[in-house]
Amino acid sequence: MRKTTYGGKYDVIVAGGGPGGLPAAVAAARTGARTLLLEQSAILGGLMVSSMPLLGFVDRSGRTVLGGIPGEMVERLDKKKATRGHVIDPTSASLTIINPNWMRILCFEMCKEAGVDVRMYSRLTDVKTENKRVTGVKACCIEEDMEFDCDILIDGTGNGTALYFAGAHYTRNKSLQPGSLEFTIGNVNIPAFLRFLKEHPEDAELPDTYGVTQSMEQFNSRQGFGITGLMHSIEKARAAGDYITPRDCIVLVTTNEEGELHCNSTRVIDVDPTDTVSMSNAETEGHRQVENLMLFFRKYIDGFENCTLNYIAPFFGIRETRRVAGIRTLNDETVRNCLVPEDSVCLAGYNFDIHVPGSLKTNIQPVEKAVGIPYGCLVSENIDGILASGRTICATDEGYGLSRIMGTCMAVGEAAGTAAALCVKQGIQPRALDPQVLRAVLKKNGCIVD
Ligand SMILES: Cc1cc2nc3c(=O)[nH]c(=O)nc-3n(C[C@H](O)[C@H](O)[C@H](O)COP(=O)(O)OP(=O)(O)OC[C@H]3O[C@@H](n4cnc5c(N)ncnc54)[C@H](O)[C@@H]3O)c2cc1C
Repeated sequence: MRKTTYGGKYDVIVAGGGPGGLPAAVAAARTGARTLLLEQSAILGGLMVSSMPLLGFVDRSGRTVLGGIPGEMVERLDKKKATRGHVIDPTSASLTIINPNWMRILCFEMCKEAGVDVRMYSRLTDVKTENKRVTGVKACCIEEDMEFDCDILIDGTGNGTALYFAGAHYTRNKSLQPGSLEFTIGNVNIPAFLRFLKEHPEDAELPDTYGVTQSMEQFNSRQGFGITGLMHSIEKARAAGDYITPRDCIVLVTTNEEGELHCNSTRVIDVDPTDTVSMSNAETEGHRQVENLMLFFRKYIDGFENCTLNYIAPFFGIRETRRVAGIRTLNDETVRNCLVPEDSVCLAGYNFDIHVPGSLKTNIQPVEKAVGIPYGCLVSENIDGILASGRTICATDEGYGLSRIMGTCMAVGEAAGTAAALCVKQGIQPRALDPQVLRAVLKKNGCIVD
C-alpha cells in the first residue's frame, strides 16, 4: 500500500527544475538557504535541454544583459566545449547555441555543488497553506508520497501549478499560444542548403508578421545562424499532401555540432497544458509532425537528402499557461518604452513574440533594447510564502511575449531564489522584502539589473 512519509522542513522549496526553477534553487542554496528541488521528470533543465538556443542574452542594442547564474552557465558550457556563444541574429536579437546533453550534466553539477537537495521523479501534487501563507508541499515520489514544510515555495513548474495549488490569484488566456515538440536534424549538408536558399530567395524570406529582415550574409556566418522561412516549399508540399503542420514557416538554428540543425517548427493548437488527455494528444501529434517534417526536408530541401533524426526534446513544449497576479506587472507601457523600473531585478532583451492562438502565424515585433522586470512581478498579490519564477511571473501579453524566453527565465529564477533566501534570513514575507536590498545582492553576484 502507498504510504506518506514526512521529509522535513526546508527554508526554500523549488518546484520544477527548468530555466525558472534550477537557477532559483542554486541561488537560494548559495545565499544560505536549506533548499529542496522537486522535479517530476528524470532530467534537470526543463526546455533548456530541448536543444533550442537560449534567447535573451544580448539585446538589440548589442548589450549583454544577462550576468549572474545565466552568464556563469554559458561560461561553464564554453569550458565543456558545449556552446557557440552568443550569435547576433536579426530575428531573435541573439541566439546562445548550446549542447543540450552538456546542459543536462551542468544542471546536476551546479545543484550538487550548491548543496541543493534534489528529488527527481518527484511531482508536486499539492501545497499546504495556513491563513493565506504557504507552509509546505506534497509530492508524488517513486513508491511513496512525501510531505515537506518550508518557509518559501518557488513555482518553477512553467504551468503555475504551485501557485494554483496554493490558491494564488492568476490569469490564463482563454485561447493559449500553440505548443511544439522540438527536434534536431543531423547529417545536413549545410553548404548545399545555403546554395538552395541562394537559388530560391523566396524561401529565405520571413513571414510578413515579423518586423525584421534576414540576409544570406547572416546565414553564411561561421559562428552559426538561424533561419525562419521555407514558406514557398511548404506551400508546394502542402498542395501535394506532404505537409501537415499548421504553421506558415520553418525555423532552423545551427546547433553546437557540425552538420546539425535544430528545428522549431511543429505546431499543435488548442492544447490544455493542465489536462493529461490533451497533453497526451499533443505528444502524439507532435511526434507525428516530427516524422512528417523529416520526410518533407528529405524530399523538398537540398542538403537534407541523407539527414538523420538526431534528437527529440524530452517533452512537448508549452508556450503559455498561467501567470501569477502579482503586486507589480510587466506591462505594455514598460515594454513599448523600453523602461527599466528602479525595482527591476533583471533585464529582458528580446522581441515581443506571440504565436497567434489557433493560427498559422507568429507575431514578432522587435524591442529596441532591454526592459526591466520589477521584483513585484514575482510576488503573489494574495498568498504569502510563495514566489513565481520562469514564465509564471505577472505580465501582460506583450510583457509575456518578451519575458517568456529561457535566458530571461533563468535571470528571473536567480532573482526568485535569492529573494527567497533573503526573506528566510530576515524572517519576512516576499511582499515585505525591499527590492533595493535584493538588487544589491544580485549586483554583488554579477547580475545585471539596470
Ligand atoms: C516550443 C517552444 C519553443 C521555444 N523556443 C525558445 C527558444 O528558442 N529559446 C528560448 O530561449 N526560449 C524558447 N521558448 C520559451 C522557453 O523555452 C520557456 O518559456 C521556458 O523554458 C520556461 O521556463 P520554465 O522554467 O518556466 O518552464 P519549463 O522550461 O517548462 O520547465 C519546467 C520544469 O518544471 C517541471 N515540472 C512541471 N510541473 C511540475 C510539478 N508539478 N512538479 C515537479 N516538477 C514539475 C518540468 O518537468 C520542467 O522540468 C520556447 C518555448 C516553447 C514551448
